Amino acid sequence: MEVSVLGAAQQVGRSAFLVKGEKTRVLLDFGVLVGREPAFPIHVKPKDVDGIVLTHSHLDHSGATPLFFLGDGVEMHSTSLTLELSRLLIEDFIQLSGFYLPFEYLDLMNMMKRAQGFKQGDESQMGEFTVKYLNAGHIPGSSIVRLDNGKKSVLYTGDFKTDESNLQNGADTDWEETDIIITESTYATADHPPREKVENEFVAFLKEIVEQGGTALVPAFAVGRAQEMACVLRKNNFPYPVAMDGMALKTNDVLMRHQEFLKDPDLFKKSLGSLEIMTSWGQRRRVVKQPGVIIAPAGMLVGGSAVFYNNEIARGPKNAICIVSFQVPGTPGRTLLEKGITLINGKPRKVKAQVKRFDFSSHSGRSAMLDIFKKVKGSPKVLTVHGEAESCIKFAEDLKQLGLESYAPEAGSTYTA
Ligand SMILES: [Zn+2]
Repeated sequence: MEVSVLGAAQQVGRSAFLVKGEKTRVLLDFGVLVGREPAFPIHVKPKDVDGIVLTHSHLDHSGATPLFFLGDGVEMHSTSLTLELSRLLIEDFIQLSGFYLPFEYLDLMNMMKRAQGFKQGDESQMGEFTVKYLNAGHIPGSSIVRLDNGKKSVLYTGDFKTDESNLQNGADTDWEETDIIITESTYATADHPPREKVENEFVAFLKEIVEQGGTALVPAFAVGRAQEMACVLRKNNFPYPVAMDGMALKTNDVLMRHQEFLKDPDLFKKSLGSLEIMTSWGQRRRVVKQPGVIIAPAGMLVGGSAVFYNNEIARGPKNAICIVSFQVPGTPGRTLLEKGITLINGKPRKVKAQVKRFDFSSHSGRSAMLDIFKKVKGSPKVLTVHGEAESCIKFAEDLKQLGLESYAPEAGSTYTA
């Protein structure tokens, strides 16, 4: 069995791996690097692939999958929730992309027709491989996938989080003996503060802002993070208005149809019940001026309604912008966080509102990741991917210390089991 790295491995973005068995060739994810201009993994001809297994719906994992459905298309397997959320995110990506994309809406529809959805804990058959879907705890529907052809096996973590959140249970990390493990490394060099502490600080900070007459913007990814933030506020009986806007609202509808993927569907439903839903420009112009909280995509301030809110809220010294997600270098969110500068009507401006970061990461931290590999069964070859270069390289070094054969691979490299 061979695993080729097709994406930018030492970077967060465009994840893609090609697994070659004796006869079957399977892609694990095929994402885009969403930046100013989308970038794709190393090209593979659809005829050279038998199928795609998708770990989760984030565009850096799913965004380029329609490329394989321009003609008859291949097989695609994932959880049913990941399929629906991918459709939502890719549709939005096609609509909002100011750049030429090598696929269009019809190809996405063709993909949805051919794709098969499963539940976590299920197995599917793709050619010679049995595919298993384990809960990844990263975003709703996310999986750690394991492919086994009876002789060799590969496990790909996608993105995962071992600790539970308000939306989901923690990842399933009791892995069977496996020949090659591909693991994400986003936060492999840092630990996250305890979640409860972050939640308390977040709620207290938002109360303070609203009580002094300010408006707080929480730019959050439409899938998962926006809903998690709403659950945190509801669980803590946040007493002030909370508005939600943008694609997060469509995600809410999808999650309502797939409640079996949620840890606490009741809390989720209650959180929706306490939101003010933004549907008109009149409403939007009103909420940016009144004390309260606005949860709006996109999480890194690239497109989406958060851009409008950001422009308005950034000007007010009583206001606040809460960064609650990982900010990819080069995105407006990262610039805001590091320099306190934002683009308003195309011009860089110093932000008057407070900018504060809260670590609500949906990735495992360093200690949790090391614990998994301390107890890993057998002696797998481990590829450390999906992190900034230092994280991938450092984590591969850490795993060597544990006696594991590990690599921080470059795009284009191939590993054999
Ligand atoms: Zn992800």
